[in-house]
Amino acid sequence: MMLNGKYDYDVVVVGAGPAGSATAKTCAEKGLEVAMVEKLPVPFAVKRCGEGLSNDSVKLIGQKIPPECIARKINGAIVYSPGKKAVIDLHREAGYILERKLYDKWLAAEAARAGVYVQTKTAATGVIKKDGFVKGVEIEFEGEKSALSSRVVVAADGVESVISRMAGLKTTNNLVNIFSAYQFEMVGIEMEDPDKIIVYVGNKISPRGYVWIFPKGEDVANVGIGIGGLGYEKTARGYLEDFIKSDEGLRKGSIVEVNTGAIPAGGFMDNMVLNGLVAVGDAAHQVNPLHGGGIKEATLGGMIAGDVIAGCIEKNDVSQSALSEYNKIWWEQQGKRLRNIEKARNVIAKLSDEDLDMLVESVTGDDIVDFTRGKKLEKVAQILLRKPGLITLARHLL
Ligand SMILES: Cc1cc2nc3c(=O)[nH]c(=O)nc-3n(C[C@H](O)[C@H](O)[C@H](O)COP(=O)(O)OP(=O)(O)OC[C@H]3O[C@@H](n4cnc5c(N)ncnc54)[C@H](O)[C@@H]3O)c2cc1C
Repeated sequence: MMLNGKYDYDVVVVGAGPAGSATAKTCAEKGLEVAMVEKLPVPFAVKRCGEGLSNDSVKLIGQKIPPECIARKINGAIVYSPGKKAVIDLHREAGYILERKLYDKWLAAEAARAGVYVQTKTAATGVIKKDGFVKGVEIEFEGEKSALSSRVVVAADGVESVISRMAGLKTTNNLVNIFSAYQFEMVGIEMEDPDKIIVYVGNKISPRGYVWIFPKGEDVANVGIGIGGLGYEKTARGYLEDFIKSDEGLRKGSIVEVNTGAIPAGGFMDNMVLNGLVAVGDAAHQVNPLHGGGIKEATLGGMIAGDVIAGCIEKNDVSQSALSEYNKIWWEQQGKRLRNIEKARNVIAKLSDEDLDMLVESVTGDDIVDFTRGKKLEKVAQILLRKPGLITLARHLL
C-alpha cells in the first residue's frame, strides 16, 4: 500500500541508501515522478559501514552534510604494516566518520524535498515484467501487498540486489572480489590518536584486507575488518576478535553494536541495465576495491543513472540500448579509475608481510592517499621493482 494513494510513476527506486537517494533526487530534479521504497523502518537502521567519508568525496558529490550526521572530523590516518608505520597528517577536516543512521535518513529526506515520494518499511517483493520490459515492482507494507508501475525501476537495493537478479540482470561476482566484513562499534577504548583513522595490513592480521579503527569520539570507534576471498584459517570475526585481544586500548572497551556485511570490492559490471531496469551502487558493484568504500561511488553512480534515466524518459525510450548510455558514462567517468584500483588491490593482495613493510616504509602520506585513488601506481611499481621476486607483479602497475 502507498499512503499517498499513487501507484504509477516514471521511476520507482528500490532501496533508500546513498545510491537510491542520489538516483531518486536527480530524477525528481529533472521533473520526473519518482517513488523510493525502503524495506527498513528507517534507512540504514541496520548499520553495515565503517562510516568513513573523505572531505574530497563530499566535495565531489556536492553535499552539505548537516553537523548531526557527522560523528567526528578526521585529520589523517595511521597505517601499520606488520613491522612498519606510516603517519598521514592532513588538514583538520580531511574526512569524516559519519553517523550513517542519521546521514542516510537525511539523504532520503533531501530526496523527498526534491519531490520524491519516499515510503519506508515498504519492501519490493517482486519485479513486474511485460513484453520484455521491467514495468514495475510488487511491494509489501505492513503485510499489505500491492504493485507499483513505472517506466524505469532502479535496483539500489545493496549488495544482495535481489531486484536485479529477479529482473534477469547478471550480477554474479567472483568470490575473490567479495569481502567479508565484521565490525564492532566500541565504547570506552583508548586510541593512539582519536583524530586519525588507523589501518592495519598484514597477512596474519587480515589476509587480503585490513583492520580499521574509525574514531567516532574520544573513546568510541568503529573497529572492523574486511577480508577478501575464501580459504583462510579463521572467519573475519575470528581475525577481528584476535586483533582486539592483542590490543590493550581496545581490550578494555565495550561493544555497543555489532555489524556484519559483504562488500562487492571489484568485479565491475560491463552492463548494469536491462529494458526498464538500472542497477546502481553496491547492487552494481560500485565500490572502491582497495578500501571497500562505497558511499561516494554509490552517490556518483546514482547521479549518473538519474541523468541518463531522465534523458531516456524524455526521448520515450527506456530500452536496454538507450539506458546503456549509463554504462558508457559510468565506465568513462568512474569505471576506468576503479579498474586501475582493482589492479593495484590484486597486486597488494599478493605481497608478503615483508613486502608490505617495504612499501609502507617507502611511501609518503600523500602517496598513500593517491594510491587509494588509483593514482601514482607507477611509484608503487618502482618500489616493488627493487626486489627481483616482485618484478612480474610490479609490471601489472605500469
Ligand atoms: C562492514 C562495512 C564497512 C564499510 N565501511 C565503509 C566506509 O567506511 N565508507 C564507505 O564509503 N563505505 C563503506 N562500506 C560500503 C558502504 O556501506 C556501501 O558501499 C554503501 O552503503 C552502498 O550504498 P547503496 O545505496 O548502494 O546500498 P545500501 O547502503 O546497502 O542501501 C541499500 C538499501 O536498500 C534496501 N533494500 C534492500 N532490498 C530492498 C527491497 N527488496 N525493498 C526495499 N528496500 C530494499 C536496504 O534496506 C538498504 O537500505 C562498508 C561496508 C561494510 C559492509
